[in-house]
Amino acid sequence: MNVLLIILAAIAVVWTFSYRRLPAIAWTVAAAIAIGLLTAYSGWSSSSLAALWVLLIVAAVLGNPTPLRRALVSRPLLGLFRKILPQISQTEQEALDAGTVWWDGELFSGNPDWNRLLSFPKPTLSAEERAFLDGPVEELCQMSNEWEITHELFDLPSPVWQFLKDKGFLGMIIPREYGGLGFSALAHSEVIMKLTTRSGTTAISVMVPNSLGPAELLLHYGTKEQKDYYLPRLAKGIEIPCFALTSPEAGSDAGGIPDFGIVCRGEWEGKKDVLGIRVTWEKRYITLGPIATLLGLAFRLHDPEHLLGGTEDIGITLALIPTRTPGVHTGRRHMPLNAAFMNGPNWGKNVFIPMDYVIGGVDYAGQGWKMLMNSLAAGRSISLPANSVGMAKLCALTTGAYGHVRTQFRMPIGRFEGVEEAIARIGGNTYIMDAARMMTAGAIDLGEKPAVVSAIVKYHLTERARQVLNDAMDVHGGKGICMGPSNYLARAYQQIPIAITVEGANILTRTMIIFGQGAIRGHPYVLKEIAATREADPRQAVLDFDAAFFGHLGFIAANKARALWMGLTGARFVHVPGDAHTRRYYQQLTRFASGFALLADVSMLVLGGSLKRRERLSARLGDILSQLYLASSALKRYEDDDRPAQDLQLLHWSIQDALHRMEQAFYGLFENLPGRFIARMLQSVIFPYGRELRAPRDELGSQVVALLLTPNPARERLTAGVFMSRDEDDAVRTLENALGAVIAAEAVEAKIHAAHKAGTIAGKSPDQLAGHALQKGVISRAEAETLERARQLRRKAIMVDDFPQDFGKTEIYQTTKAVTFEALH
Ligand SMILES: Cc1cc2nc3c(=O)[nH]c(=O)nc-3n(C[C@H](O)[C@H](O)[C@H](O)COP(=O)(O)OP(=O)(O)OC[C@H]3O[C@@H](n4cnc5c(N)ncnc54)[C@H](O)[C@@H]3O)c2cc1C
Repeated sequence: MNVLLIILAAIAVVWTFSYRRLPAIAWTVAAAIAIGLLTAYSGWSSSSLAALWVLLIVAAVLGNPTPLRRALVSRPLLGLFRKILPQISQTEQEALDAGTVWWDGELFSGNPDWNRLLSFPKPTLSAEERAFLDGPVEELCQMSNEWEITHELFDLPSPVWQFLKDKGFLGMIIPREYGGLGFSALAHSEVIMKLTTRSGTTAISVMVPNSLGPAELLLHYGTKEQKDYYLPRLAKGIEIPCFALTSPEAGSDAGGIPDFGIVCRGEWEGKKDVLGIRVTWEKRYITLGPIATLLGLAFRLHDPEHLLGGTEDIGITLALIPTRTPGVHTGRRHMPLNAAFMNGPNWGKNVFIPMDYVIGGVDYAGQGWKMLMNSLAAGRSISLPANSVGMAKLCALTTGAYGHVRTQFRMPIGRFEGVEEAIARIGGNTYIMDAARMMTAGAIDLGEKPAVVSAIVKYHLTERARQVLNDAMDVHGGKGICMGPSNYLARAYQQIPIAITVEGANILTRTMIIFGQGAIRGHPYVLKEIAATREADPRQAVLDFDAAFFGHLGFIAANKARALWMGLTGARFVHVPGDAHTRRYYQQLTRFASGFALLADVSMLVLGGSLKRRERLSARLGDILSQLYLASSALKRYEDDDRPAQDLQLLHWSIQDALHRMEQAFYGLFENLPGRFIARMLQSVIFPYGRELRAPRDELGSQVVALLLTPNPARERLTAGVFMSRDEDDAVRTLENALGAVIAAEAVEAKIHAAHKAGTIAGKSPDQLAGHALQKGVISRAEAETLERARQLRRKAIMVDDFPQDFGKTEIYQTTKAVTFEALH
């Protein structure tokens, strides 16, 4: 009995110490006390006790950072690690070194500090930024007509181009000292989001100069002369920039571009013997390329004559080349999925450029990849997430309204359970997408460049936007399909694959980047271990490796103890912030962060360097990390909004959905990890009772739908930022007007229905019943007018455009308006 008690007590102590991640010295002292007690009171034989003391000494020497441990364990292990660690190419290394680790680091720690999350300030706009959104952005939206742009002009109208140059839209990220708007990331995001709700083409045309391109690169790396000359010109749209990286042979593998430059001496503007580069390139898919005046170009630089020094292959280099330079070919266009923004190929052969065209000058020749990777995170965190949320908000607003206004089988379609399923997904997805957009923009405004987070929001927000658009199209039926000026969905539906493909195509981003980069960047020890293997000083290398490796072992033990304890208890004893509605979510997320950290480590141990090639496994690990991030952002949003009770259903749906997706990713790993014993062991530690996390229940989905079908504060918050035209005939405005009118008419319809049932009035059609109700005084004239207004607006909202039989060259190419049914009949 005594022995059993001692064993149980020892297990409890080991578990608690692991859970709390106590340092080795604490373990040593505790073990010494325990063996001391045994020596004094147990009555065990002296040989058993002596063996225990010897064991303790060995464990203390190996468990604590002693010189003997370093010599006996760490040094040989370091040698082994040097051999087995996967080779990381220079381009991969530069990608890994880029940007910062932010909330993703906390999630990777297995024990996120929620108070830290909640202490990040709520992202807010300055008065000036708000005024810009309410002024020029509204105006630009009012001026932009996506049908005219994409169907008739295949370009933005000249006044729109002029307006966005004059008002500084192309220079939102350029500081004021250079004449730019110097906007915060949040303001930048809000501008792109609102523009998207009106015109994808306008949004993308504004997005690109403010994302990764000449301005961003100049700000970080430009010489003073380059900045002073170009930034004011870019800010005012005197220069139209583009950035050309992609070539026909190198898309996702952009580091492998075949475009090259040779350092040489040549003639430039009448001067002979000028040091420069002869560049040859062929690029495609370049946004704004056809009209650009300033071409940002990436190519590999060679110096066969050693004019710059000893190295021949200098590496990827970035230059700014005015497109008027002889030999530069631009102007031709691609047609990217009916979006009419400028996009096309460009090329040049042996084009001579002086060395000062290199961004940052000769010092930055060969640093191009690093420069690109370092500048990627900010733009990737803002542009496509804002664009995706804009689409989702537009879908949420219009699908909710359409679901109410459109009736079939004498019921608003939004009340059919099948349709509810789709609308609930729209609401929940939009809520969490917007939360992640704002939280990430807030991080940029805190000075972060969160590389892994930027990949998470790029992938997940574009994917969820695709889901939301699909759902919105399904709910709209033929109304979403028939194209014309009154179709507010179809262009976004057509354009969503662009967002999926650019700035790191989604399959690659999910399978290679999120976990691949996160595992090394966000993990508390892996990067330190890798750094130790590269340390030149042998003594320092062993010291660093010893600390990192044993820290890592402690980390794994802690996560195992934590994951199991929280699995058994449902994490109910974990101390977290939040309120009665959210505390459980914080607890569950803490539990799964621990599970994730354990699973990530074991996967890396089991698969080693081959994890990089096992993309489906890496993708699922990335999915868990991503859902942890998205759910964190929803909790943060709820707190930032002062816990609005009306939003609770949206919050519940979105977090339950994230947890459910997380569980699916965990099980996908358990089922596919090589090493079945380890996989089963992990499953029983992380999910001791099996699957627990259900998808949001139908009833919750119905509650979310109810929020979208009628005007209310939660719907307003969810769709804040959607542009509403001043034009009463605008399709989105018509739909919102119809929603209001239909709701106003519902009380009148109820009176008529009651009178009909009571036999007070009679009639076959709704019109007859209404007429009779008015005659009999069941409803007033004002109420009859309310009914009529609802009837007219409902009809206007559900109608689609139609065209002459030959798709009338006149209507398509010469007028901006399709002929409506009403006009013809
Ligand atoms: C409209 C538009 C605008 C663009 N604007 C610009 C611009 O302004 N400047 C610029 O330089 N580029 C631009 N691009 C290029 C864009 O960045 C590339 O299209 C993108 O990098 C993908 O390259 P790709 O199209 O050649 O596809 P590919 O590289 O051929 O990829 C095809 C598919 O294979 C997947 N894949 C590839 N490698 C892997 C891997 N290792 N693991 C898993 N999956 C993988 C990809 O995810 C993708 O799904 C633009 C593209 C488009 C369509």
